[in-house]
Amino acid sequence: MVYPVYSRRSGGLSIGINLFPDNKHCSFDCPYCEIFPFKTDIIFNTETMQTALASAVLEAQQNSIPIKDICFSGNGEPTMSSHFMQAVTEAESIRAGLVPEAKLVIITNGTGLLDRRVFEFLNTAALSNLDLHIWLKLDAATEPWYQRIDRSNIPHGELLSRIRDFAATFSPFTIQTMICKVKGVLPPPVENTAWVQFVTELAVISTKNDSTEEYMNLRAVQIYGKARPSPEDPLAETVPAAILNERADLLRVALKKKEITTAVEVYE
Ligand code: SF4
Repeated sequence: MVYPVYSRRSGGLSIGINLFPDNKHCSFDCPYCEIFPFKTDIIFNTETMQTALASAVLEAQQNSIPIKDICFSGNGEPTMSSHFMQAVTEAESIRAGLVPEAKLVIITNGTGLLDRRVFEFLNTAALSNLDLHIWLKLDAATEPWYQRIDRSNIPHGELLSRIRDFAATFSPFTIQTMICKVKGVLPPPVENTAWVQFVTELAVISTKNDSTEEYMNLRAVQIYGKARPSPEDPLAETVPAAILNERADLLRVALKKKEITTAVEVYE
């Protein structure tokens, strides 16, 4: 339910909150997914999470280990849990009280944005003083690659449209994209081009200019490769770092043309 872990993307200790201790629950079926099949009788409840989270924070502090973030992820898509909103609110209260220097992160595949209540909750939380960091998965900008790498029944066009709507609210967010081979095939050039265009569009529509300042609400784009084993190996395969860097460079060029300085990061 609550688990400390070293996170390569955070660069330090991340305290994870898993809303699905019983089984995997996800609206995607990514072939690179690292969740191995399991089943338990453990039922999530917010009170137990609060106690476990406070203990994990205090233990790290007693051992002088800096906490980079408290992160909702693990065993599926967190926005699918009926406890999601309450758990985020309670975790934020613990973060603010015990470890205000840590971020509160939600890793989501974005499908929750199709639910109006989740969309509004994330939008309000991201714009409030909750200091919420939304890391939004965007593995595919074309339908064929989406069906290959995310294997979901959620209509791809609707998903992209809601992500676009979310960016237009000026909520700060980060894009995360996995690049790997699936069934021996790399993302094709048409996917690379569509992805660069779509992410650039998100960066443009989420940039807010007021009279004194410019806000880049697309905080970062994280491109990462397959680094851990998956139950479906070798269906998805790691690709050379050069492929990740090539995609990152394409995006950097496109963003530069629009004078957008969002960081494009690569994690091999
Ligand atoms: S979105 Fe995440 S949890 Fe869901 S299948 Fe993909 S990798 Fe696994």
